[in-house]
Amino acid sequence: MLIRNAEINGRSGMSVRIRGDRIAAVGPELSREPGERVVQAGGGMLLPGLHDHHIHLLAVAAADGSVRCGPPAVRNREELAAALRASAAAAAAAAAAAATVQPGGWIRGVGYHDSVAGALTRADLDAMVADVPVRVQHRSGALWMLNSAAVAAIGIDDHAGARGAAPAAAPPGAGRGPDGRPDGRLFRLDSWLRERLPPSPTPDLAAVGRGLAGFGVTGVTDATVGTGPAEVELLTAAVTRGDLPQRLTLTGGPELAAPAHPRLRLGPVKIVIDDGEPVEFDELVALVRRARAAGRAVAVHCVTRAALVLTLAVLQAADDEPGAGHPGDRIEHGAVIPPDLLDQLVGRGLTVVTQPHFIAERGEQYLREVDGEDLPWLYRCAGLRRAGVAVAAGTDAPFGDLDPWSSMRAAVTRRTAAGSPIGPDEAVDAATALALYLGDADRPGGPSRRIVPGAPADLCLLAAPGRIALRTLSADLVTLTIAAGHVIADNR
Ligand SMILES: [Zn+2]
Repeated sequence: MLIRNAEINGRSGMSVRIRGDRIAAVGPELSREPGERVVQAGGGMLLPGLHDHHIHLLAVAAADGSVRCGPPAVRNREELAAALRASAAAAAAAAAAAATVQPGGWIRGVGYHDSVAGALTRADLDAMVADVPVRVQHRSGALWMLNSAAVAAIGIDDHAGARGAAPAAAPPGAGRGPDGRPDGRLFRLDSWLRERLPPSPTPDLAAVGRGLAGFGVTGVTDATVGTGPAEVELLTAAVTRGDLPQRLTLTGGPELAAPAHPRLRLGPVKIVIDDGEPVEFDELVALVRRARAAGRAVAVHCVTRAALVLTLAVLQAADDEPGAGHPGDRIEHGAVIPPDLLDQLVGRGLTVVTQPHFIAERGEQYLREVDGEDLPWLYRCAGLRRAGVAVAAGTDAPFGDLDPWSSMRAAVTRRTAAGSPIGPDEAVDAATALALYLGDADRPGGPSRRIVPGAPADLCLLAAPGRIALRTLSADLVTLTIAAGHVIADNR
């Protein structure tokens, strides 16, 4: 393939030759070779394919068949009840039409936030839907809330003994109400819960792959903490089938075996530090050491000041050379990074993988709920870069929007949906915002990948030159996405 008349790094009239999965040549006027397909770029900006540095692929696929349970789709208890009931009715109608009884058909809700109807318990959900198992995920991804039918179905209800079977012990992380019964709240029990759910249809990763390709995304880092052999198998199968045409970097634990496909690889070990949970300092240190022993960096989920302080202490304790840091270590989210911690981040060479779009998507709630002292340090970008901290971005989809361009726009505007600024000093220019998604999977906040001979043919062609594209940063401009030399999205 020969791409002609593209703008690369500000130079217009450039041609790019692709041979196999690589870029073969780049130059001002390459002439067409026999049999070569020619793409006229029309002066449009040609970028390396975008890399989403923090996403959860299987959760994105599952979210497609789920009920939206948080703002802006659902804002209060009545709207939540209506959404869940509509889904239950639709499922019942579908089951009737197919003349089959769906075994244990569950309603799955996502994106819940406490501003809708407070801390939901089984009783709250029972009042909305009682006859079908319902599970609703908090938008943090850390918490599931179940109604009584669901609690009974997974076998931890103390009253399930009525059916003759003794109830299983609820694991730590399962909440209990004042009466001592499970209250339906399951904290950080994703894998535990999945094992108890009826087998679900294989998630439609092809739709996820298409969606990403349409945005110009040719690579992602799946930052899911619970990625195990079963998840690796699903993702490898999807890549092999071509459902996911992107390159995948996976996190998961230190014992995870490397995937057996050239387009999948292991990245850092994911570690989650949650506020309000008992912390075993020594266990965290041991986990970091196991990551090191496996030759892997760590990516630590930190959304509060306290979690960041703890993370820095854990890294300090885990590494043989105190303060030296380990290449590739990352802070995921870095939702609150106060100035007094910057030196340590720089000293350890930590990269922050942030979500600028949370300012746009969740900013109104932050203004109401976040400590005024922390507001200027929310999802920082420019200030981190000024201090010498490498910064990259990921959508965190499905917890954030899948569109990386809306994330870039938010990095530039730093405004809530209602237009209020948050940490305006953290705004970056459009080129910097774009570069948040152009780093290498291994060096997310490092230099942007380059379009040079020998580089992978992972490209994103825009319909406009840079001076226009950078003004809008709109996904609508993506005209062609090429991954490993193949066109994976053609919006022309
Ligand atoms: Zn995440």
